[in-house]
Amino acid sequence: MRTLGVLGGMSWESTATYYRLLNQGVRERLGGLHSAPLLVHSVDFAEIAALQQTGDWVAAGERLARAAEGLQRAGATALLLATNTMHKVAPAIEAALTIPLLHIGDAVGQALQLDGVQRAALLGTRFTMQEAFYRERLSARFGIQVLVPEASDQVELDRVIFQELCCGQFNAPARSFYLQSLERLRAEGAEAAILGCTEIGLLLEGVTSPLPLIDSSERHVAMGLEWLLAPGK
Ligand code: GLU
Repeated sequence: MRTLGVLGGMSWESTATYYRLLNQGVRERLGGLHSAPLLVHSVDFAEIAALQQTGDWVAAGERLARAAEGLQRAGATALLLATNTMHKVAPAIEAALTIPLLHIGDAVGQALQLDGVQRAALLGTRFTMQEAFYRERLSARFGIQVLVPEASDQVELDRVIFQELCCGQFNAPARSFYLQSLERLRAEGAEAAILGCTEIGLLLEGVTSPLPLIDSSERHVAMGLEWLLAPGK
């Protein structure tokens, strides 16, 4: 198997899911004692979140690029950046690497295309919902029309991510708020919803949703597994 780098800790709640799902995926495919050859660099998310808050994306990009370089030097043959939001600085990371960054937006876009979805709702941090880096990739590369929640919903969805989900709290009021927001997006014409933040799947595990859900973490892990298990070095 090829060795895969995972740049995570943003937050570690979802990086733990990546670790489990990558290993489970290898076990399902190869059986026995097989497990995923991984190199994980898990950052202190408080430092990255502080740079997000002050809008210092250049410094955040540099920091993640250095971590990614370390994973490459240690033997990673490709990289998963285990957060949607920080794909805002994917170009800075890619510029520092010769190995591929397996982009979470492409994993999501491919899944939507496969399911025949043309209009998709996007839930995530305010950066992911409001800025161009994620939405434009989905529309330019996959022809997806992206719907985002109304402004007041965005504030609460974002607050829940940083104040609850990334702190390991998965509470009923947040769950019902997310479901209400999904219902409003369904009424506006969304055919499916992208869980465009790697922790949302943990909050909505096992729920009955008004829309089919495309979980960015699961799709990203599936993309990583394909890489790991492909022939070649
Ligand atoms: N894990 C989240 C995401 O997928 C949010 C944390 C972050 O800002 O990186 O966007």
